[in-house]
Amino acid sequence: MVFIINKNLLKNIYKEIKKYDEIVIARHIGPDPDAICSQIALRDSIKETFPDKKVYAVGAGVAKFKKFGNLNKVNYEELHNPLLVVLDVPNLYRVDGIEGLKYEAILKIDHHPKEDIVGIVDWTDTEKSSTCQMVSELILYTKLVLTKKVAENLFLGMVSDSERFSLKNTTYETLDTAKELIKESGIEFTSLYDMLYTRPLGEHKFMAYITNNLVVDENKFAYIVIDDATLKEYNVDVATPSNLINNYNFIEEIMVWAFITEDVKNNQYKVSIRSRGPIINEIASHYHGGGHKFASGAKVMNKEEIDNLVKDLSKACQDYGDKRL
Ligand code: AMP
Repeated sequence: MVFIINKNLLKNIYKEIKKYDEIVIARHIGPDPDAICSQIALRDSIKETFPDKKVYAVGAGVAKFKKFGNLNKVNYEELHNPLLVVLDVPNLYRVDGIEGLKYEAILKIDHHPKEDIVGIVDWTDTEKSSTCQMVSELILYTKLVLTKKVAENLFLGMVSDSERFSLKNTTYETLDTAKELIKESGIEFTSLYDMLYTRPLGEHKFMAYITNNLVVDENKFAYIVIDDATLKEYNVDVATPSNLINNYNFIEEIMVWAFITEDVKNNQYKVSIRSRGPIINEIASHYHGGGHKFASGAKVMNKEEIDNLVKDLSKACQDYGDKRL
């Protein structure tokens, strides 16, 4: 099997990057490894290819992701209509750190379903496992330079978003791109897994808490509401449950599962949802959310919304189960 690379599209993206002296690279709020690693890898590759360009990776930093590389603090007043590259996010309101930026054009690379952002070159492909897979293809099949560090970040993002190449979004293309990345860069990929999967014992104890307190219903829907006091008790933050949620992918009694975490700072609940069957992003979109068919996120404001979301997700499981009979 050979997969077709859209070389014209990649060439057009490369041309836009080449054209601009100043480039700002942004991604979504509340970043995950795919968002951060794609952003840092693309910045570093452009800098390596075109040392005279000013290229910035922007957005709020996350302490535990500092190991992937530093982000840039930029005074937007000093820029002159740069190119804005948007990675891993389809909606403008979820792009992090571009307030006050006057850009000339947007170039978008993303694997989420299309929303309001439309780039002058717009590479949206929901079949790709990760944005890191897409940036890997861009770098591998254009003149952009691939260093070891760039390849390591891209590999980490691919591994993270595909949960070690085990989720439904993993394809022949994903593995082929990972293989090319390793072949071209010579990275020692097995030693990288530590960076994603080594956790403090406290986080494992928190996972045990989640497992022990999940409510599982007769439709194979499972959920937990985690309050702020519990986060404090286990010394974890509001983003931790979404980093752990993929670990619940192989439980016989569960088809869809949701972690609903109190976010005191923003006076709301952050919701992470995963599915092994029913499509969940349409339901998430009714609760200030979205994402992928089988991996979505949302926000709920109160107990009533939590109850409604739980009912909707359980019903989706029931309908899915009924359809399969
Ligand atoms: P998470 O559970 O936070 O890992 O998010 C799963 C997927 O849903 C990711 O692709 C996120 O970008 C997306 N997502 C999370 N929260 C939201 C939201 N409030 N609105 C739209 N998409 C979201």
